[in-house]
Order: sequence, then structure tokens, then C-alpha cells
Amino acid sequence: MTFMRNAQPFALAVVVALTSFITVVAQPQTPTRIRPRPAEGREPDLPQPTIRQYKPRSTLLVPQHPVPRAKYPVVDLHGHPPSLSGPDVVDQVVEAMDPVGVQVMVNANGTSGDRLRQALDAIKASRHQNRIVMFTQIDVRGLAPGGGVRLAQQLEADIKAGALGLGEIMKDFGLSARKSDGTRLRLDDPELDIVWETAARLRIPVLIHVADPAEFFAPLDFTNERWLELALYPGRRYQDRSKFPSFEELMAERDRLIARHPQTRFILAHLGWHANDLSRLAAMFDKWPNLYGEVGAILYDLGRQPRAAHDFFVKYQDRVLFGKDAFQPDEYPYYWRTFETADEYFDYYRDYHAFWKLYGLALPDGVLRKLYYDNAIDLMPGLPRAGFPN
Ligand SMILES: [Zn+2]
Repeated sequence: MTFMRNAQPFALAVVVALTSFITVVAQPQTPTRIRPRPAEGREPDLPQPTIRQYKPRSTLLVPQHPVPRAKYPVVDLHGHPPSLSGPDVVDQVVEAMDPVGVQVMVNANGTSGDRLRQALDAIKASRHQNRIVMFTQIDVRGLAPGGGVRLAQQLEADIKAGALGLGEIMKDFGLSARKSDGTRLRLDDPELDIVWETAARLRIPVLIHVADPAEFFAPLDFTNERWLELALYPGRRYQDRSKFPSFEELMAERDRLIARHPQTRFILAHLGWHANDLSRLAAMFDKWPNLYGEVGAILYDLGRQPRAAHDFFVKYQDRVLFGKDAFQPDEYPYYWRTFETADEYFDYYRDYHAFWKLYGLALPDGVLRKLYYDNAIDLMPGLPRAGFPN
């Protein structure tokens, strides 16, 4: 009998299968990397396309519900509009916000001092005084002893002038910014404690972008999920440990910073780059009530896990805020569709972020309202209320 003749290899296969089963069961947290292998040992005998050329057309026909305009008015907490040099620029930006349903944009470009006051004047002189608000910035480069005090004074003056928050603190803080003595400025450097404590006293949020996706720090081989992006953008490669800290080193500094300032409300830009590991972010939200997250530029991670992401947004509905990052008005509808619908397998807007498709989270209305505007209003009492439901 065929079965008997092959009994030994079959038994071996069972043992191997069982062993891997037990390994998987015993270590449910261990991420599995699946190694691609050629189908049945074959190689294509047609000329092969490059990674840029292969664009398979989906033959899937399912209901489509594009959402050109958000269901509720939105606060874009992470906006990078063009520099607001005059009232005409303000009006142009607002005209681009209108069709997609963004009611208020936070200018997170990092404008402080005189430029902040000019931008605030431009907003006041525009036809849309209630549509753009300003955050201020601290320049941490070359920080010397005593520098923290000066930055805290500047922060306080900028808030008095009309800024509603601090940020975006850019990723060079932690990644590359140096102190006056030439060493890397760590995220939890005590010199800056007074800045974070001032933000707490003034009750303003701090929007902070730390590091970049973990794959930007990981070996640059063909299993790297962001290989294409890294191939296109040399400036995003942080593999060289003589120049850059590791991803986890930055995360550890960031976590110590959050823990040391429990009264300061930190908003992690890009969900802290943990949208691909929501259980990690959930544990952080559980541990630190002063922590919030903003969803800019990580839609590809939410849309590939619609059920887990749905449950996460429901559970942490008071801690998530909408933000878009890059100012590309035609990209907002991808966010609305992902948050609002249950659509399946639809396109994402940037092929080098993700070569997969998205699925809708179909968030309940109450969660959408908190994500789109309610949580932002809670964090920024000075936010104009015009245009939002009561
Ligand atoms: Zn940004």
C-alpha cells in the first residue's frame, strides 16, 4: 500500500507539523515572517516585470462607497499647509479644505516667534478666521545648559500670542538633533523637562513625531515591507547604527518621557508608528492616561486589519484624533472611506507605502465624531466652535 510504504516520512511530517503547531500555540505573540518561495519550484519563463511594472488589475466586483466628504466636520490636527504668508494663502487653503469636509486645520508646520504672529495676523485678516489654528515649535538643535528655560519662556509667549499647542515636534528630535556638546539629544533629556512641564501648566497638547516606521531601521533586504519606499528615498534609511539610534532605543526614550510627565498631554503623531501593532499601543494607552494618538500617514496599517482596528478605535475612542500630515486634499477621501464604510479591497493612495489594498472599518457614528472633532475640542479649549455640532 502506498500509505504503508510512505508511513515513515508521513509520520515524520506529522511530528514536524505538530512541533510547529505547538511552537505557534506556545508563543502566540511571536510574529511570523512568511518567506516567499517559488511555486512548485518553478521559475517564470516569460520576461519578468520589475517591482514598478507589476500592477495586477483586480477582477473583484463588490459594492463601492467612495466618501468624498467626511460625514462630520473634521479637525485635522496634523496639517502642513503652505506657509501662511498672507490672508490670500489662508483663503486658498480653506477653499481646498471645504469640499472634503475639514472644518479646522491645525498648522503643525512648526512656526514660532515673529513668523507665528505673522501667520496669526494673516488668519485674522482672511475671510476664514475660524478655520486654521496655529501650533508653535521649539528648536532643540544645539541645546545647551539653560536652553530648556529659554525654550519654555518662548513657548509661553507663543501660547499667549494665540498658538493652541506645541508641535509638530519633528522626528529630527531623537533621530539626529545634537546638543551643544555634540552628543545626540535624547528624547528624555532632563534639560527639556521644563518645556514639557510648561505645556502641562498651560494645558496645551504636545504633538510629537518620534522616529519613523520600524522597517526604516530594519535590514534593507527583500523581506523588508518598505523596501520600495527605502529604495526611492535614501534619506529614510536609518540602518547605520553609527549615525542613528535603533527604533527601540527611540521608543524607550519616548516612553520614559511620557512616563515622567504625567500631566503633559502628548499626542503621538502617526499613532507612534505602532498602527501595525495595536496591542502595543493599547498597552501604552492603558498605562498612560496623558497619551493620545493621531492617525496621519498610517492608513495602510489600519486598512489591512479592519476588524482589529475597528475594535481598537471603539475601545480607545477617547484617545484617537484625526490628522493627515502631508497637505494633499485629494487624499482625505481615502481616510473617510476607510473609517466610515465597510468597503472591501480598495486602493490606497501611495504605492510605495503599501502594495496591498484597504478594507473599511465601519466605525460607529459616536466614534467617528470623537475621532473627527470631539477629542480635539476637548484637548484644545481655544479651538473655534463654529461649524461643529453642539
Ligand atoms: Zn508632520
